[in-house]
Amino acid sequence: MSIAQNLLKIKSTLAEHVTLVAVSKTKPISDLMEAYDAGQRIFGENKIQEMAEKWEAMPKDIQWHMIGHVQSNKVKFMAPFVSLIHGIDSLKLLEEINKQALKNNRIIDCLLQIYIAEEESKFGLDEEELNEILASESFQKMKNIRIVGLMGMATFTDNQNQIKKEFTHLKAIFDNLKSKQTANLQLNTISMGMSGDYKLAIDCGSTMVRIGSSIFGGR
Ligand SMILES: *Cc1c(COP(=O)(O)O)cnc(C)c1O
Repeated sequence: MSIAQNLLKIKSTLAEHVTLVAVSKTKPISDLMEAYDAGQRIFGENKIQEMAEKWEAMPKDIQWHMIGHVQSNKVKFMAPFVSLIHGIDSLKLLEEINKQALKNNRIIDCLLQIYIAEEESKFGLDEEELNEILASESFQKMKNIRIVGLMGMATFTDNQNQIKKEFTHLKAIFDNLKSKQTANLQLNTISMGMSGDYKLAIDCGSTMVRIGSSIFGGR
């Protein structure tokens, strides 16, 4: 099947409250344009440089999501245009995003990445670190970022019960926080689910799925 066919097939299965991020990392612009021509406007990349190059070359009504691990010193390269940053795992990074957003006279939407997997290799905050960030004076003073939700990645395993447990954990953390809305904490998004596990993620409460290989093929 073509990229357009893959995309439309997946989209047809998603409920209206679920946003599809087409994960296009490593793929050439011609592939992204095929998805664009089929109606896709949200693309996810995991390298800032690659995302910036694609942003420059492609139509300006695309929303670019940074889904990878972010290095503070590279935030400035995406601050002018990024529409959502998924992988934030420290107050320091949030401070840099706030600073660069101010320079660009913008408010940048962010997700805090929560560590839910049982894998050493994955990034993210635990619940205590999350609460420390939100309670900090530094965070409460930030005017140029808005935390709109949480992001998580499940363990890479075939064990559906394990994955379900991890997604349910993220949903529970989200629900706990949901009542604490402030000026820069406006939770409405749970980013969880990839090609292999997005259906389960949606069943567990995901509102945003990040799908790459099922649309664009293997990498
Ligand atoms: C690559 C990537 C995805 C997409 O993975 P697929 O299995 O190709 O759908 C989703 N989220 C993150 C954070 C990624 O790095």
